[in-house]
Amino acid sequence: MERPVCKLCGNFAEERSVLYAPDGGVRTATRVTCTTCGVYDVTMMLDATLFHGYPQEDRYRLSGLTRRATERGETIELSSSSAKQLLAENPLPSPIEQVDLVLEYLDGHTSPGGPPVPLSMEKDYTVVRALGAKGLQFIVNSMVKDGLIERTDTSALPHYRITMAGYDRLERRRKQAPPVAISTGWEKVDRHVAAAKARLNDAAFEEDFQQAGLLCRETLISLAQAVFDPERHPTLDGVKASPTDAKRMLEAVVAVHLAGESNEEIRALARAAIRAALALQHDRAADKRAALLCYESTVALVRLVALLAKPQAE
Ligand SMILES: [Zn+2]
Repeated sequence: MERPVCKLCGNFAEERSVLYAPDGGVRTATRVTCTTCGVYDVTMMLDATLFHGYPQEDRYRLSGLTRRATERGETIELSSSSAKQLLAENPLPSPIEQVDLVLEYLDGHTSPGGPPVPLSMEKDYTVVRALGAKGLQFIVNSMVKDGLIERTDTSALPHYRITMAGYDRLERRRKQAPPVAISTGWEKVDRHVAAAKARLNDAAFEEDFQQAGLLCRETLISLAQAVFDPERHPTLDGVKASPTDAKRMLEAVVAVHLAGESNEEIRALARAAIRAALALQHDRAADKRAALLCYESTVALVRLVALLAKPQAE
């Protein structure tokens, strides 16, 4: 049998398996397991064009993102549109951030005094989302020189452990880390909100503000998907909500959780928040003010829905 290939990094993959549509019919995507890129799903369409249709830098960047997701226990599905969005939403980390990513990775794979962690330049550059082996080598070399990590062997596959100075840096960074923008416990929602906030923080151009709006839209879709249950939340007009129909889903949720006359005002507020957040996301002439309003109204709505659906959320 021919060995499977990962089209992201171009190496042999551990495994490629065909994923079937929920009805068991048409083949829609394959799941790839790759030492370098982690586990990811890729649509047939994108898979066919990935290796020759995307510049190497984009493929490096995508494999960094699929690997990161795998390390977090998630699986990204790459399609032509999601690949484009991932690239737009995730600028390359700075060398300083990459140092922290190496420390986090090592820390996540051992404990102080535990066994050293293997780090292959050729296969693990994705851990710091570097553009290939040289990118990781540069970071690792400078970290060894600065005494943040030390190499423990002389084998072909280098092993590293964090030094006390490295732990010191980790601890200081964790203490400094800005508090998460919002914490609902819905991982995807929190992540989209954090990404929108980060994008707004260093937004300079119109397209940055539009990106922030797009992330707010993703936030509301994730929110709706997290909270909406077709069994419990009949839609107001009886029309079945599509998986991206945030408005219909959220309105149904609000109607159930804020039922009754005594809730009339707060129900009206929640409905208005849904409409405002969605309207602002579609604002084409995105400027800073529109983007900030969009972000704030999205966050307000997320908080409100979290409060309704899971009173224990912050
Ligand atoms: Zn790969």
